[in-house]
Amino acid sequence: MALEQFPAACAGDNRFTEDHPRAAELLPVCLGCNVRAACAAFAAAARPEVGFWAGAAYPLPSEETR
Ligand code: SF4
Repeated sequence: MALEQFPAACAGDNRFTEDHPRAAELLPVCLGCNVRAACAAFAAAARPEVGFWAGAAYPLPSEETR
């Protein structure tokens, strides 16, 4: 799959890599993203330390004290 064919809706949007992303503002973008399933699978495996991935802010609340 070429990323050019299925671009991420957040491409180039720095709000998605902030330490404290604004979920209410970003969630609609993820809900309309055509690579959301792949993004969610990546985030579930990689457990990013920051950012907003597939509709969820990382770290996940259950991981914040690790
Ligand atoms: S689902 Fe993933 S790739 Fe798509 S807009 Fe959200 S964070 Fe970006």
